[in-house]
Amino acid sequence: MKSRFTVLKPIQFEGTGLHTGKPSRITVHPASGYGGIIFRKDGVEIPARYEFVTETSRRTVLERDGVRIETVEHILSALYGLGITDAIIEVEGDEIPAMDGSALPFAQVLYENLMEWEEKVHPYKIMLPIGVEGDGRKVEATPHPQLTIAAAIRYDHPFLPSQFIELTITPDTYLREIAPARTYAFVEEVEELKGRGLAAGGSLENALVIGRDGYVNEPRFPDEPVRHKVLDLLGDLALLGRPFVGRITAVAAGHSLHLEFVKKLAEEGAGGPVVELDEIKKLIPHRYPFLLVDRIIHMDDSRAVGIKQITANEEFFQGHFPHYAVMPGVLIVEAIAQVGAIAFFKKFGGEGKMAFFAGIDEVRFKRQVKPGDTLILHIKLLRKGSRLVKMEGKALVNDETVASGIFTAIIADI
Ligand code: ZN
Repeated sequence: MKSRFTVLKPIQFEGTGLHTGKPSRITVHPASGYGGIIFRKDGVEIPARYEFVTETSRRTVLERDGVRIETVEHILSALYGLGITDAIIEVEGDEIPAMDGSALPFAQVLYENLMEWEEKVHPYKIMLPIGVEGDGRKVEATPHPQLTIAAAIRYDHPFLPSQFIELTITPDTYLREIAPARTYAFVEEVEELKGRGLAAGGSLENALVIGRDGYVNEPRFPDEPVRHKVLDLLGDLALLGRPFVGRITAVAAGHSLHLEFVKKLAEEGAGGPVVELDEIKKLIPHRYPFLLVDRIIHMDDSRAVGIKQITANEEFFQGHFPHYAVMPGVLIVEAIAQVGAIAFFKKFGGEGKMAFFAGIDEVRFKRQVKPGDTLILHIKLLRKGSRLVKMEGKALVNDETVASGIFTAIIADI
């Protein structure tokens, strides 16, 4: 568990939008420890979540009910890098002000006005490797005890062929090593960007400009561009809506790949909280040899992920089969359903209740499961009635689907 943080008092920032070139103002207000980061414009609240992203070309744009806010990534990076989990950002204008092109003007003031809440938050603590890639670019995450980012940029450019940085993000390292890094552009792309209606407010005052044989204006770090990539990545990672614990490697990535990564974390990843065996036994009555879940490694409002290690000592291998050990497909289905039952009773309470199958549909078995395999069991809630629960489930071994189907359970009083 991590502490939730907000700001002590309303803090205002004013300036010009980097891409629109228009004046704008934002006020970061304190918020109670439940709602996360929320933008507010013209009376419409837009949660800082990936579901509301509508554009990722050169900046990240949030939109809801026709209200649109451009270039949210630098203020979000400042909040996320400093561990601020809750705030309301009132926006007057179409875009977040560019300030000096970095997150430092935001981060300095926010850092001096941090306030800790009593409420805690479960961070998204990465449990299984996950990533997205394509076109020589990638973003991937692996388990690690702290938020650590390794980033690389790569260009076909004589002065800036590549840069690399790796560091652990704490409020102090963020403020010192990342927040000051400004957005950057290559001399030859400035005209093209302006032609596309972007960078209208860009200047040598709010961007690092890179020429064929060096920086046009004074850099703040020799590797300022790759540091800005880390700044942007953190701003986009904020759209996960939870603090993150793990190691992220980003190669030649930009906003669209960052967002694809965040969506995959939220919709397919395993990030805790963990439910251990002792608690599992309190939630469902299954016991040896029929308890087929060792641990839950992810739970949220609509999904859960569990693990079952398959060992040679499983009871069922004695007869299935004496000369060829393979896990019965129906038991894989049973294991998936047990993850569903554990998650359901953990969330809604299970006192005096049990879950039974009411139907299984579209079940497919694609690969044999043998001793030594680790079954990763995913369930997603499709519908919850007063007594019937429908979910989609699948079991994976080494990222390969071994079984999948649609399961309906009836919740019975006993
Ligand atoms: Zn940026």
